[in-house]
Formats: sequence, structure tokens, C-alpha cells
Amino acid sequence: MTAAIPVLAALAALALVKTLERRLAPVVVRAAIAVFVVGPLIGVGYAMWALWQRALAPVDLVLLVTFSVITGLGTSLGYHRLLTHRSFRTKPWIAGAALAAGAMAVPSRPIDWAARHLEHHAHADRDGDPHSPVDGLLHAHVGWIFSVSPAKRERYCRRLMDDPVVMAIERTSVLWLALGLAVPALIDGWRGLLWGGIVRIAIHNHSMFAVNSICHAFGSQPFATGDESRNNRLIAVLAFGEGWHNNHHAFPAAAYHGMGSGPDVTGLVIRGLERTGLAWDVRRPHPAAVERRRRLPVRGVPAAGTPRSR
Ligand SMILES: [Zn+2]
Ligand SMILES: [Zn+2]
Repeated sequence: MTAAIPVLAALAALALVKTLERRLAPVVVRAAIAVFVVGPLIGVGYAMWALWQRALAPVDLVLLVTFSVITGLGTSLGYHRLLTHRSFRTKPWIAGAALAAGAMAVPSRPIDWAARHLEHHAHADRDGDPHSPVDGLLHAHVGWIFSVSPAKRERYCRRLMDDPVVMAIERTSVLWLALGLAVPALIDGWRGLLWGGIVRIAIHNHSMFAVNSICHAFGSQPFATGDESRNNRLIAVLAFGEGWHNNHHAFPAAAYHGMGSGPDVTGLVIRGLERTGLAWDVRRPHPAAVERRRRLPVRGVPAAGTPRSR
């Protein structure tokens, strides 16, 4: 457990930086972000080395998978489809649990996350998009988060600031992040922290970052969306259905992103909640509207877009 002390100290520093974000020098904020991006990667390197030394205990694998599913759905179902796009409605306790699970995954508060994502949709691959590969694949993947310009909360998310469930998670987001590390550490000490916390964060980070980078550069474009968004099967698997990103840009409010392209785990969970009465007002585009927007294949040319450059 002594190994958890530096991690908890880093989290306390992160909480301080988030609280004082607007008053600190940009270099300090960037350094704190760097710790969160680079730290888990060092953890993965250490985990690989430790694996080489001795077999991975089954409990660590269970922690890795369990916390990956909880926090992956937290981001995809909670932060993205419920909070940002209002793709469905649900009971307050489910909304709170989903947002808390999202806060366990990323150091971004829910409203900041939603505001940046809506800014992306508003300017996709044009001037003003915070993370487009048009400005470089590495920038779209991870470089953009080092920009310390504050999220445009008032402009994109005013409505969320009056929601008591959202604000409760907003105010306690760092505690949820800490809980996502403390629980695996309590279950299996340093190894639990490593696999259920640090390695899990690294996998989550880069799967979700890939939606911004890979899914705007590599894959198919069944819909003409006027941007570079693409469907990528591998990222759809790794990011709980978020890789059906061209479908999502075509119909941002739709709860189910698969749309005939392939399975969408998050969409299936929403369907399950709907069938058990725990979700309602689930938004789906009319099938005729979907067919109207489908890109017609040109003779001899597959139904994929050609990259633009800027
Ligand atoms: Zn996008
Ligand atoms: Zn979106």
C-alpha cells in the first residue's frame, strides 16, 4: 500500500491544479497534464517488465477487465451519449453512477469534457476544432490536451450547470478518479493499483484519444458528413462502440452508433436499460433519414471519402 502514496500525492496535486487552473502559469498546468499522460505509459512499461518476471495473477486480470468496462462505459455512455448529446433519459441514480464512472476514467470534469466535445462537433476538421488530424495526427491524439485554453462551458453547456446530479459529480470528480485507483489497490495492493488503475487508465486514454485521431483519419465514410470522421472497426471494439464515428457525426444525438456497421456495446447497454424501463426517450434517427444521408457508391469507387487537406 505504501506504493499508493505517490499516486495519491499526484492526485492531490492534480486536484490543486484543477482548482487553481485559471490562476496558475500555463507551464504548471501543462506539466500536470504531462504527468497524467506520461505516468500511465511508464506504468504500462513497468507492468510489462513485472509480467516478464512473474505470471499475472488472475485477480489482477479481473480488476483490469472490470475497471476497464466500468470506466469505458462511464466515458461512452455517461459523459458522451447521456451528458453531451442527451441521446436518452434515465433515472438520476443511473445518471449519477454513469457520470461518476466517467470521472473515474479521466481527470476532466464532466462539463469541461462535454463543452470541448460539442466544440469539436461544431467545427469538425475546420478552424476552431480543438482536435483535428488536419492539424497533425499526434496533435489530434494527445497534443491538443496540452492547450490550456479553458473549455467554453458557458457557450456550450449552460444547461448542465443547473443540473444537481451533474454538479454533484462535477464538484467531486477528483475523488472519483482517486476511488478508481484506491479500490484496486485495496483489493490487491501494488499489483491491483498497477493493473486495475494505471494500466487500465493508459488503455482507456489511448482508446478514447484514438476516436479523435484514428477515427478522423483511417476508416470508412458511409455518410457524407462534410468532415473527416470515419468508422473504424478496431477502435469501435476498443472504445465501446465509439469507433463508429462517421455514423456518430452524421447523427450526433442517436443513442446507437452501430447503424448496421457493426456491434456497438454502449448502444446495446442503452437498449438493455430501455427494455428494463430504466431508460426512455432513446433517440433514434428515422430509417428513411438514415438511408437519405447514406453516401451512394460511385461506379468503381468505394463508399469512402478522400482526405482533405488544409
Ligand atoms: Zn469527431
Ligand atoms: Zn459526440
